[in-house]
Amino acid sequence: MATEKTLLVTGASGFIAQHIILKALEAGHHVRGSVRDKGKIRSVREALSRHLSDPQTMLERLKFVELDLSSEDGWNTAINGADALIHVASPFPFVQPKDPDEVIKPAVDGALRALRAAKQGGVKRVVLTSSGYAIIEKALRPGRTEYNEDDWSDPNDPTSTPYSRSKTIAEKAAWDYVKNQAPEIGLTVINPGLVLGPPLDTELSTSIKVVKRLLDGRDPALPHFGFPVVDVRDVAEAHLRALDRPEAIGKRIMVAGDFMWFVDMATAIKAAFPERKIVTRVAPNWLIRILARFDGEIRPIAPVLGVKRTVSNARARELLGLEFIDVRESAVDSARFLIENGLVSTGRS
Ligand code: NDP
Repeated sequence: MATEKTLLVTGASGFIAQHIILKALEAGHHVRGSVRDKGKIRSVREALSRHLSDPQTMLERLKFVELDLSSEDGWNTAINGADALIHVASPFPFVQPKDPDEVIKPAVDGALRALRAAKQGGVKRVVLTSSGYAIIEKALRPGRTEYNEDDWSDPNDPTSTPYSRSKTIAEKAAWDYVKNQAPEIGLTVINPGLVLGPPLDTELSTSIKVVKRLLDGRDPALPHFGFPVVDVRDVAEAHLRALDRPEAIGKRIMVAGDFMWFVDMATAIKAAFPERKIVTRVAPNWLIRILARFDGEIRPIAPVLGVKRTVSNARARELLGLEFIDVRESAVDSARFLIENGLVSTGRS
């Protein structure tokens, strides 16, 4: 970014936000990181200090504020005097809740609270983290082969998960709010694919738990399932570049590298760690559909087994000048982190 800014980054205890904060501090910005639990401040600082080039000086530019997506408290004070808001926090459960409102409500309320605070504080630049799941959960019309930013998931589709609905409805609410009540705010939305790469701390995001499940080797075969994948370092870079580029205002930007089947991910990780027992056999779809009835972790993938949902990243390349890290490298980096930190079962072949 051209000039140093003060950024409010929500969800500072999370996987993606920590990478955003790391890059922001390296770029010379002042950061207010929000946590809902003050007990996490210490571990976030420690995680960042292990990765910053000059932790002592740079951490002086990092302050913390306490914010909960479900509470009014603190938002106006937190944003006061900030130049921009990067709203990342949102529930991202590994197992989908029975009551969809457990994730939808905080996601929507949180996005609106963040935007209302921005308006009240006169903050005119906001980047919001949505998801590829706000784009790809709707079948493509015949003849089309890839999704782009004009596509919207259908939150009323009976197969869409509470998480995907939470991201779609929250993103829509954000666009509507800016259009109708705060046109002075320049909003950019980043829609990442499944985010892999090295976490900075051991509180694992749902996307890293996907790699952990693979390394734990508890499944005899893999589902024929895949997703557009992206490296967390590219996602962080996208958020910061978006702030700097006026042409990104008013745009949603799909940030994803290649589509990856589970078996591609397992094969890449096995090649990097040949001594580990990593399953690369693919299960028939009918078997996964039966298992999905009993296993809440795999239930959401049953409707899209075998479906290759490719997305276009042309806008991210053109508007943000992003070049994507090879997603096999991202998967291997996630696996390396899990292995080196003793976060997977010791499975060797
Ligand atoms: P994490 O689970 O690591 O981070 C989520 C963050 O949101 C945490 O800081 C969490 O705080 C915070 N949060 C959740 N609920 C609340 C709440 N009620 N009040 C305040 N804070 C809350 O996930 P990621 O970093 O991976 O995800 C960050 C964002 O990126 C989310 O919006 C997610 O939907 C989106 N995303 C992630 C993708 C991925 O593959 N990782 C893909 C596409 C989008 P706490 O630590 O206290 O739980």
